[in-house]
Amino acid sequence: MELSKRVKSVPPYLFAEINRRIAEARKRGIDVISLGIGDPDMPTPRPVVDELVRAANDPKNHQYPDYEGLFAFREAVSKWYMKRHSVTLDPENEVLALIGGKEGNLHLCLAMVNPGDYTLVPVPGYTPYRTSTIFAGGEAYDLPLLEENGFLPDLASIPKGVARDAKLIFVNYPNNPTGAVASREFYKELVDFAGEYDIVVCSDNPYSEIGFDGYRPLSFLEVSGAKDVGVEINSLSKPYNMTGWRIGMAVGNEEIIGAMGTVKNNTDSGVFNAVQYAGIRALSLDDSFIQQNIQVYQRRRDLVHETLTGIGLKCLKPKAAMYMWCRVPEGHTSASFATIVLEKAGVVVTPGAGYGREGEGYFRISLTVPDSRLSEAMERLRNLGLR
Ligand SMILES: *Cc1c(COP(=O)(O)O)cnc(C)c1O
Repeated sequence: MELSKRVKSVPPYLFAEINRRIAEARKRGIDVISLGIGDPDMPTPRPVVDELVRAANDPKNHQYPDYEGLFAFREAVSKWYMKRHSVTLDPENEVLALIGGKEGNLHLCLAMVNPGDYTLVPVPGYTPYRTSTIFAGGEAYDLPLLEENGFLPDLASIPKGVARDAKLIFVNYPNNPTGAVASREFYKELVDFAGEYDIVVCSDNPYSEIGFDGYRPLSFLEVSGAKDVGVEINSLSKPYNMTGWRIGMAVGNEEIIGAMGTVKNNTDSGVFNAVQYAGIRALSLDDSFIQQNIQVYQRRRDLVHETLTGIGLKCLKPKAAMYMWCRVPEGHTSASFATIVLEKAGVVVTPGAGYGREGEGYFRISLTVPDSRLSEAMERLRNLGLR
């Protein structure tokens, strides 16, 4: 049997390898603490769960949903974008319900990318940008995110020939894995660049609500002209602790949203209506829920920052998202450091090289583990004798 080239060309899923190692270490009796995957440890808010139960009990919701999402869900998204980002969205044709942001990235590629087209993908970056490109027959062109540029891509350094052949650019701020954020000036530059070369912008923005020390992350759509060149993909997964529920949204350019809808209509038929009602409930929660979440992540961020800098590691203090992006000690690769930390401390960190070449020399810690386990992990790192 011959698998498709597209499947064969997918690199092993980063976390599959990590999960294998965790299982192996646990078999040897090690009490492993995983700071690997970014998956909120706190529960989905009670009113959201209650709304799912109510809606699941209504037989009207047991049939196929509309592939584009309930009008009420799209309206809730539109109101939320207005309230949060002062962005106007027509729920009729500028909002699409998604089965999570990850799905949206793939469907956007299937909607826009032809075989041979380039997509511009950030490195280090969320791996589905690359695999979605491959699935659509396109080719990923790496945009290095360097610390000296604040982990923003240097758009001026993209060769003109590549820019002309590029169909899509992925940006993700607040950024996974670096925790970097984007300014309004950067988004303005991006809109100009996209307009000049007729490139679609995909602003993947699942961390738009998680900012620290009072910082409020921007939406790409806040910049004038953004809707002419692109879409934003957002998700209820991270702000409302709903990763398992599979619900998100694509918003912005009407033509792109329509094309993504055509793909969805022919592949997944949409999000379970009861989950959409729960999503509407989440979007209408008052701000205090997210503020409490932010306080928890911020406290954890401060603990990790203090511990790691205390043992001599260089570690940035992010303004947003839920990750710490840190330098490995001198003399290590990201893989060798992650291995030592697992073997000697029973702690899992993600090697930066897993996010692409420019991730080498770094490791990522996710702040999505309960405080007591995170403290224990930090205690073990302090005892590792790095200093
Ligand atoms: C978590 C995450 C997503 C979306 O997750 P979904 O659960 O599929 O909505 C998208 N992009 C990045 C960079 C993420 O970290």
